[in-house]
Amino acid sequence: MKNIKDFSLEDLKQEMLSIGEKTFRAEQIFKWLYVDKVKSFDEMTNLSLDLREKLKENYSICNYKILKKLESVDGTKKYLFDILDGNAIESVLMEYHYGKSICVSSQVGCKMGCKFCASTGIPFIRNLSSGEIVEQILAVEQDTGEKISNVVFMGIGEPLDNYDNVIKAIRIINNQKGLNIGARHISISTSGIVPRIYDLAKENIQCTLSVSLHASNDETRSSMMPVNNRYNIEELLKACKEYIKITNKRISFEYALAKDNNDNLEDAKELVKLLKGMLCHVNLIPINKIENGKFTKSSNENIIKFRDYLNDHGIVATIRRELGSDIDAACGQLRRKNLDRNV
Ligand code: SAH
Repeated sequence: MKNIKDFSLEDLKQEMLSIGEKTFRAEQIFKWLYVDKVKSFDEMTNLSLDLREKLKENYSICNYKILKKLESVDGTKKYLFDILDGNAIESVLMEYHYGKSICVSSQVGCKMGCKFCASTGIPFIRNLSSGEIVEQILAVEQDTGEKISNVVFMGIGEPLDNYDNVIKAIRIINNQKGLNIGARHISISTSGIVPRIYDLAKENIQCTLSVSLHASNDETRSSMMPVNNRYNIEELLKACKEYIKITNKRISFEYALAKDNNDNLEDAKELVKLLKGMLCHVNLIPINKIENGKFTKSSNENIIKFRDYLNDHGIVATIRRELGSDIDAACGQLRRKNLDRNV
């Protein structure tokens, strides 16, 4: 059965026509799903009983079940959702001064194999559909009763490896008649799938692109991220420059600092050379140690030195506040553990 949440508004209009209904029905359904946030076709009371029956027979309405919910001392909430096919995914809700931000997963598992990330080692199972991505936001809003203002694609999975569904999800999230979250409040994070960065540049979506760089030379980056053997730093930055040229948008580079690995002044110097003159920002993340991981956090002193060096040399850099580390919900910590099902 088709998931009703997999349709963008335009697609749903076409779908309604194909089942002999008028296109305004699509707008009504969209409003029930994304404004009123109902969980069943029965609640869509301005649709005729006949149409409600027809919808029930032909479409599913994906409602996640919360398998587990953990709350951090800092207010961060981690959700483990049953996605209705025996698999489970995680989403994290973070509270910032500007509002609530959700970190969503884009795939069940991940193929990228970054050495420092807890998603590594979980077998890749499948892509999430656009409706399954959007449902993470709905399920958290339904649970908390509060509106989410920002969405970051930084959960499990590589969003640009599930390109079409991620773009479709963004169109639903962004649509004023959908979840109505401004594109500027949506970020996609990528490990660096170069061809898809060129594609994204042409989508005409005003979302923010974050690129997980994490190193200033190929040797170090390849030792941390196997994707670098496929698309090296030079190719990656060429794509980023083209992205900036086309979109006129600033890129955010993620750089997770690991002790004695990529955190000394030589690395900072190399990084300045690489990024000089680019419309960008560097987000420094104290690396989170994962089970059996060989990387450990840099000292606070080193992190500050690294940031100051970048700032003093014309590269805007900030240190990311770590949220939810006590519940394994911080950057790169997401993994589905203690779970008696397909992981
Ligand atoms: N696949 C995408 C998005 C998922 S990860 C990507 O690679 O960008 C979101 C961010 O968390 C990425 O920047 C990733 O490199 C970072 N990350 C992963 N593991 C981490 C860890 N152990 N400590 C700090 N950051 C980590």
